[in-house]
Amino acid sequence: MARKRGSEKRYVGRAVAVLFGCLALAMAAGGFVRWQDDGKGGDERSPGTFTQARATGQAFGKGPLRRYSVQVEDGTGVSAEQAAREIQKILAHPRGWAAHGRGSFQLVADRPDFTVRIATPDTADRLCAPVGDTGGELNCEVGDGVVVNLRRWKLGSPTFDGPPAAYRHLIINHEVGHEIGIRGHLGCPGRGRPAPVMMQQIKGLDGCRSNAYPYDAAGRYVDGPPAD
Ligand SMILES: [Zn+2]
Repeated sequence: MARKRGSEKRYVGRAVAVLFGCLALAMAAGGFVRWQDDGKGGDERSPGTFTQARATGQAFGKGPLRRYSVQVEDGTGVSAEQAAREIQKILAHPRGWAAHGRGSFQLVADRPDFTVRIATPDTADRLCAPVGDTGGELNCEVGDGVVVNLRRWKLGSPTFDGPPAAYRHLIINHEVGHEIGIRGHLGCPGRGRPAPVMMQQIKGLDGCRSNAYPYDAAGRYVDGPPAD
């Protein structure tokens, strides 16, 4: 009996070790493959230090001015200057918040009202912890700005129909939507309709089509029923 228990224990121990081994391997392989698939040689180092874009821009849009800065975590291979230029284009897009009187924005390098940080998954989780568990996958909006998960920035989202560059509009528009005071999320307004930007599209589209812009081409707000 004692011997049997012992061998059961050893067996269970081995099974657990194998299970953990598989999990670790699967997680490592999954992370590695997904990460390296973009061919840009990103890695998972998370130094937790950031470089801020030095570029500044003109204010654009209508509504209360919000000055923002852009920071990128060191060692990610993403240029802070390039990210800042891209974010400025996203915010100035004709279907964005600024073009529809929901706020004006200006890229600054000093004393911003909010900061957009692009961070590795580990760092993003740490910065987002005060508002919830982002699980290495999600972006968030915290007190002093927006935290963008580098994985989403570089790889896009599995629920989004389009390349990462198009998905970045959704990241910025959604999180800046919170930044301009929209606290709640929206749901899908109906099968086949465009998903609102304030819907958590990464968690499922519920029959909607993925959409990265707050407004449609005719200038109408892409609305939906309140969610959460
Ligand atoms: Zn949100």
